[in-house]
Amino acid sequence: MSPVRGCAPLTAQAYVMEQVAEYAVAVGGMRAIPYDSCIAYEEGQHCVIVAYPPEYDPALPTPPPAGACIAALNTAVERALAHSRCTSVTVLAPNRPAVAPLDAAVHTDAYAFLPLPLSAPDAKLRNMLRRASRECVIAREPMGEEHETLLQHFCRSHALEEGTSSIYANIGQYLASSPAAVLFTARAVDNARLLALAVGEYASLTTAFYMFAARAASCPPGVADALLLAVIREAEKLGHSQINLGLGINEGIRRFKQKWGHAHLLPYVETSWKRIPRRSGTTVRPDAAAFAAVPDSSPLSVYTARPWTDRLRRALFGDERPFDCVQVEVTSLCPGQCSYCPHTTRRDVWKNRHMAEETFAALHPIVRRARRVHLQGWGEPLLNPCFFSFASAARLAGCAVSTTTCGLHVTANTARKLVDCGLDIVAFSLTGVDEAGNAFRKGIPLSAVTAGIAALQEARRQAKSPVPHIHLAYLLLVSQVEAVIGLPALMARLNVSTAIVSTLDYMAAPELQDEAFAPGDRRIGAALDVLRRAAAQAEAEGRHIHYGLPGTTPRRECAEHIQSCLYVDAEGECSPCVYCNPPFVQQDEGRRVFGTVRHTAPLKIWDSLEFCRFRTAQASERPDEICLACPKRFERLV
Ligand code: SF4
Ligand code: SF4
Repeated sequence: MSPVRGCAPLTAQAYVMEQVAEYAVAVGGMRAIPYDSCIAYEEGQHCVIVAYPPEYDPALPTPPPAGACIAALNTAVERALAHSRCTSVTVLAPNRPAVAPLDAAVHTDAYAFLPLPLSAPDAKLRNMLRRASRECVIAREPMGEEHETLLQHFCRSHALEEGTSSIYANIGQYLASSPAAVLFTARAVDNARLLALAVGEYASLTTAFYMFAARAASCPPGVADALLLAVIREAEKLGHSQINLGLGINEGIRRFKQKWGHAHLLPYVETSWKRIPRRSGTTVRPDAAAFAAVPDSSPLSVYTARPWTDRLRRALFGDERPFDCVQVEVTSLCPGQCSYCPHTTRRDVWKNRHMAEETFAALHPIVRRARRVHLQGWGEPLLNPCFFSFASAARLAGCAVSTTTCGLHVTANTARKLVDCGLDIVAFSLTGVDEAGNAFRKGIPLSAVTAGIAALQEARRQAKSPVPHIHLAYLLLVSQVEAVIGLPALMARLNVSTAIVSTLDYMAAPELQDEAFAPGDRRIGAALDVLRRAAAQAEAEGRHIHYGLPGTTPRRECAEHIQSCLYVDAEGECSPCVYCNPPFVQQDEGRRVFGTVRHTAPLKIWDSLEFCRFRTAQASERPDEICLACPKRFERLV
């Protein structure tokens, strides 16, 4: 079945681009479904409803009263939603629809319309057009390789939003599928080099559309204006009464359009929310709560105000996520005084600070490309009042989200929030299976940890939620090896299905050396024996103990998987791993930081020469000095 079947009458009356079904389907790969005066584009659970009823058309000689327009819009959206089973909804409309919940994310802009025929351009614009006519020749052309190349260069050299770049990548497909779309080109008078291009769309009976424009870096001034004039002249020839120049997007584009006279502005309100299908007896993950926790006014709204074009891109290209994990130090504050932690041994130089919302917001380009965000570095993450907003924002970006806590602050109220914000794993730290074994964690009695676990179990039960999964993060110290045999019993008592056993990797003081396993350490055999027995017992009871111990030879990839993971501290500084960047006020010789997201885009930091060199060296025979003896290079996980 044609993906635009039944949409022709709506396209014929279109006055915003998104009503031209061929366009939206070609760039987004979604299915178009007409509902009265709306078009819905659906893909899986996502639905974009374009609700611009005829009452709002700027070409109407006498617009109906505002009340009638709003009523028409609300009715149209409600009808479309009544038919749709999608749980993720975006409505594009001149107003926020009444049906949208109070916590819906809203992004606004405005379309600019020029009435046709065009009134005479002012002197300045006439000069630009005259100059352009000496530099270039305007023509209509079929799309080819040269045009694709220009579009690629244009996207690379402009800071286009990801969704916009994807749409540009699909212009060829759109031109092929829309018989009323026309590609105009500007070529240099002297050597016929392609200087710029623009696309006009003429499928509607009343409104023409200025769809896209792109130019080469060396394009002379005025050429873009000459192309727009060609798009307008074609519309006049076909008898259109207005042209929609598109959204304002940014100040530069707005200024370019303003040159053409006083355009009529039509509001663009993009409203997004999640619907939860509630059926009795079903268990529902709290995605709506995640939406609710990021208000519009927060810097974190960059995670919610996601352009619908971005959703189209994901629908088209899939949800590629090159980063396995972004580990984020939410705070470096901690109530604990664990004897093996630099928070205790280096308290004189410890920097106490929370991550600010602005810093987490700046991380969004990399978070969107990550499968998992782990909210914990050096410190107790639940102390940061923004913790739940960060978790919700990362969930909205489509990531799995986990944390590791000391457990002291997991009260009934906090446990409810941990369930509501959509975390998938909460790990509780331990060094033993009883109070004596856990005494290394001064200030954090085992009883407090078990109370926190019980509170989280209860919150999950009340919410009928299978998540977050509860894990134990068990630190195996050399002097405590025998005690680990009691771990399966503790897991059974706490009803915890998974424990991850690690060893001491960061040497916070020289005297701690005895509590750590070095590669080739003769005590590893005994530890391995106890761990194997504990893991077998847990397995027999349907639980899992995973553990890692250093082998005798280094591996090319360390256990922190720095080729696809990175660490960001509370100030936004990016490092390969948590061990490279403890929060000391003094510079530490073991510190490796490659930039801060407060000043540089995170992907630029990741791609910087120095960071790339570090990763390449780490995967070679000659890693950075800090990695040479790091136990994480020797670790073997079971
Ligand atoms: S709870 Fe974690 S951050 Fe706090 S002192 Fe203990 S090990 Fe260090
Ligand atoms: S080997 Fe290097 S990058 Fe990997 S955990 Fe150790 S210090 Fe970090």
